[in-house]
Amino acid sequence: MSQPSSIRTVGIVGAGTMGNGIAQACAVAGVNVVMVDISDAAVAKGVAAISGSLDRLIKKEKMTAAEKDAALARVTGSTRYDDLNKADLVIEAATENFELKVKILKQLDAQLAPQVIIASNTSSISITQLAAVTGRPERFIGMHFFNPVPMMALVEIIRGLQTSDDTHAAVHALAVALGKSPITVKNAPGFVVNRILVPMINEALFVLAEGLATPEDIDAGMKLGCNQPIGPLALADMIGLDVCLAVMEVYLKEFGDSKYRPCPLLKELVAAGRLGRKTGHGVYRY
Ligand code: NAD
Repeated sequence: MSQPSSIRTVGIVGAGTMGNGIAQACAVAGVNVVMVDISDAAVAKGVAAISGSLDRLIKKEKMTAAEKDAALARVTGSTRYDDLNKADLVIEAATENFELKVKILKQLDAQLAPQVIIASNTSSISITQLAAVTGRPERFIGMHFFNPVPMMALVEIIRGLQTSDDTHAAVHALAVALGKSPITVKNAPGFVVNRILVPMINEALFVLAEGLATPEDIDAGMKLGCNQPIGPLALADMIGLDVCLAVMEVYLKEFGDSKYRPCPLLKELVAAGRLGRKTGHGVYRY
């Protein structure tokens, strides 16, 4: 199904965790990148993150210093949206906030040539809804990378209701050219992976709350019995219990199905400020 990618230059909006990871994946694969953020400091931080990440690959002998220099030379950091006009595809990877994304997408739609594809890396906002704020819903698509982008093979490609076959084919080919293994998904809350993952974490908290086993034994069970690299409770602490709760609340509201009700223990932990690794205490203490 995949054709060679015709995308030579990718624009990225947002130089944060995901933006700079996507930029690195593109640059290493020989694709030029223009990465835009709101301040010089944010752009510099994003470029420094790429440089540091490539240094770690050199240390592991997965890359040479010359290859690093060549990859970095493909990355242009900027605070000017005009610099995105060189791109064949622009990926929006800014902060997860609906109003902010609408503002950015309207700006991109107004300034980019009509054939340019716009993608969003959103984790939770409807691709169909974001597409509808642009004048090019057939050339709008979801491109959901996983963190850390340079390490994770998966990209969920989310077709909005109006996404065209050509747009899907172009973005699929790019994902393959980046060395990723894309899967194609219809638009729905959580797409595929988070739709399955977060309710599993919620169920692990129900199992804990019912006192069926200790946290350590629940995690050991899922690691040893299902070959998961990390148990669901340890993973919940990594993701952030507040994030897990917010996701369950979205599913409950959007699907209107009580099977998505957040576990009361999850609500209690969040109310107590035990959000996971980021607060030093979640299910486990850090
Ligand atoms: P982040 O906070 O690390 O980075 C967001 C960046 O966007 C910041 O550098 C911020 O300055 C910038 N930004 C804000 N407003 C902007 C604007 N108007 N123009 C340009 N840049 C702007 O966030 P992140 O974790 O990289 O998440 C980005 C997107 O990726 C979100 O939609 C998130 O849901 C999604 N996502 C995140 C993960 C994850 O694990 N972190 C995984 C998959 C998808």
